[in-house]
Amino acid sequence: MRKKRLGSGKKGGKPGPHQTIDEMVAELKGLGRPDSDYRKRSLEIHGLICAKCAREFDEKTRHLLTVHHKDGNHRNNPSDGSNWENLCVYCHEDEHSRGTLGDYLSGHEDK
Ligand SMILES: [Zn+2]
Ligand SMILES: [Zn+2]
Repeated sequence: MRKKRLGSGKKGGKPGPHQTIDEMVAELKGLGRPDSDYRKRSLEIHGLICAKCAREFDEKTRHLLTVHHKDGNHRNNPSDGSNWENLCVYCHEDEHSRGTLGDYLSGHEDK
């Protein structure tokens, strides 16, 4: 037995826009910060793949791939990419959580 209920619940139609187009464009432009330049280069050099878990990314998901600085110095950006490592956001977080493992363990009990 199935009852189909159409039209109940969703009424009104007009979604109140939270942003104007102009605001959205401004926000998008904000993503093009100077530091995204090395990111672009690193993705070009190392490819759209996580160096740790080998997860692959494409144009649609590349925002989930981040650039890790092997020596931890964000100003050390050799153009050959030798200081960069492409890590997905999960692996990147993991990478950095090792440095503050004490913090991590005290505030966070693992399953
Ligand atoms: Zn990964
Ligand atoms: Zn990093």
